[in-house]
Amino acid sequence: MTSPNLVDTLLAAARAARSAGRDPLVVLDLDGTLYDSRVRTLRVLLELAHQHATEHPTLLAAIRRLTTNAVQYRVSDTLASVGVSEPALVREAEAFWSDRVFTNDYVLHDLPTPGAVDFVRTLYEVGVVLCYLTGRDAPNMLVGTVRALQRDGFPVGTLGTRLVLKEAPQLGDLSFKTNIAERLAAAGTVIGAFDNEPGLCNLFREAYPAATVVHLATAFSPDAPPLAPGIASVPDFLALTANE
Ligand SMILES: [Mg+2]
Repeated sequence: MTSPNLVDTLLAAARAARSAGRDPLVVLDLDGTLYDSRVRTLRVLLELAHQHATEHPTLLAAIRRLTTNAVQYRVSDTLASVGVSEPALVREAEAFWSDRVFTNDYVLHDLPTPGAVDFVRTLYEVGVVLCYLTGRDAPNMLVGTVRALQRDGFPVGTLGTRLVLKEAPQLGDLSFKTNIAERLAAAGTVIGAFDNEPGLCNLFREAYPAATVVHLATAFSPDAPPLAPGIASVPDFLALTANE
């Protein structure tokens, strides 16, 4: 479902909240929503392949055939798609990936999803308070996250923005975002929420009944629940503005 009026709806809701003396807040996930994190995974796998080019020459050839679109949620599925399935090698790749992918250095390899920067800037310019709410953890990823947001033109570090990361990597995404969602509701009027995980979209649908909740249909966890009714689903942010 796409909604050609979704941007107008958000802008009208922002004006209404402002006239009521409240901050209009929009909750924005990062990985799989504003950022294409598959680029980061592909970079990690390429590095692994180069480091093991001598003992696994076919691995480098296989990984070099991968495109961003072929990167799947699980490393094992991505490797299987290019014929790499030897259990010991897959386990090594998973360990190599998890040691690097959730770090300041590697998060810089992500790039924005199509239309994300323009869309977010449009909201910001009409006075929406941007609440970046991500499952990334602050100890290992805050610095890289800020650098990437700033580099890519997303507003950050201003009065009109909030950037919320987990205090520790082991916190579950659902409980973390449930807790923050409640607290954001007390800080202003949440008029919109964007996430690529159906379970988290469902959480926002329930937490903010009057808000526009949008699912970004990129990669999401294989065991995700079905999307609840009343949630728009779009492939990227260009789809939100295409019919303006
Ligand atoms: Mg996400």
